Amino acid sequence: MPDTRIVYGARCAWWDSIDKVGTTPTGLPACPHCGGVLFEVGTEAEWWLGVERHEAAGNDGYRAFVVWLRGKCFPTLEVAADAYQARTRATIVYPLENDEVLEPGAVLAITEGLPLSMFGRDVGTVVAARPTADGDLEIVVAIDDDEALELLTANGVAVSIADEEADDA
Ligand SMILES: [Zn+2]
Repeated sequence: MPDTRIVYGARCAWWDSIDKVGTTPTGLPACPHCGGVLFEVGTEAEWWLGVERHEAAGNDGYRAFVVWLRGKCFPTLEVAADAYQARTRATIVYPLENDEVLEPGAVLAITEGLPLSMFGRDVGTVVAARPTADGDLEIVVAIDDDEALELLTANGVAVSIADEEADDA
């Protein structure tokens, strides 16, 4: 029977499936980035149920945040949320008749709040996707890191960086 547990940091914001854990010097399961100790829930379904309850309690966008957070270690959720807000927003115009840009079937996977996969890796999180007047698809993506941005431009994808500032409240 596969181990379905989801683990998350007791003292950091990291979370992922149990197969991703590191170990402390004494051999206990730990965050693979900072070595912090972990809590766990029994299944991924249980994990998302908790996330969805939290979103439904008036925390719009929480689920998308947790999707993005997977596998990343920050000292606190607040620091993670700041990094999430500060991500570069890029607009990609994707010609729908050109299936070479995205992997086959990928257009179907372009859903708000979910990772966008291009050229063999997740490059960011879809913020919005809408058809343009020319019949192309305009995708606004919160880019994960500079490497993702370089991957897109190196592969000839037209990327324009949004100038809008995140709320600096
Ligand atoms: Zn950690």
